[in-house]
Amino acid sequence: MAKYKRILLKLSGEALAGPNKTGFDEATCIGVAKQVKQLVDAGIEVGIVTGGGNFWRGRTSENIDRTKADQIGMLATVMNCIYVSEIFRSVGIKTNVLTPFECGSFTKLFSKDRANKYFEKGMVVFFAGGTGHPYFSTDTATVLRAIEIEADVILSAKSIDGVYDSDPAVNPDAKKFDEISIEDVVNNRLGVIDLAAAVLCMENHMPMMIFGLNEENSIVNTVNGVTKGTLVTA
Ligand code: UDP
Repeated sequence: MAKYKRILLKLSGEALAGPNKTGFDEATCIGVAKQVKQLVDAGIEVGIVTGGGNFWRGRTSENIDRTKADQIGMLATVMNCIYVSEIFRSVGIKTNVLTPFECGSFTKLFSKDRANKYFEKGMVVFFAGGTGHPYFSTDTATVLRAIEIEADVILSAKSIDGVYDSDPAVNPDAKKFDEISIEDVVNNRLGVIDLAAAVLCMENHMPMMIFGLNEENSIVNTVNGVTKGTLVTA
């Protein structure tokens, strides 16, 4: 299991909500925690970014100022990280939650040095609050943090099990890619990651595995190279 030294795991808000579609599905989160424990026990350093769409997206309201709407979205990711961090602790994982803005005593302020210090202590580090700026997404925050902490790979756990040439919910003949370059994702507008995040991935050669969170043991299987997700090369 020691293929990777340090990974960044992105859990989409949708995936955290499981069948509930909104809020948290505790069974799903406990399942994630048990898998991450196996990675930590195998000596792999794990950083986590969560989405926020299970509570709020900046585009949820057309009536309020976008900057304020995005701030609510960033706070939604803080709630998600505090929750998932506590679930991780309940299975015996040591954790810390970092944010790019002050949240009083709820979290600690992000810096690369602080993240490294926690990784060295065997902790799972949560990068909450996105980039701290509006008009960005947690996809961008994921790639940014992965580059900053020099992760080997991004593991993106979604409610869909990989990258398809069209939406499998709409097109029953949609074809899943085993591997695709980030350039092809962008050129074919496959929409698995937003453009700002894709460009960051491309420029900094950050590979990404996209896979379904619902599949049994999918996080561990992805790390072990036995997953049926999609490898996005960069
Ligand atoms: N968000 C933001 N800046 C960031 C990260 C997130 O403004 O760096 C906000 C944005 O409003 C987004 C919400 O937080 O819609 C939730 O993040 P997520 O990436 O899950 O949103 P989604 O991709 O589901 O819209």
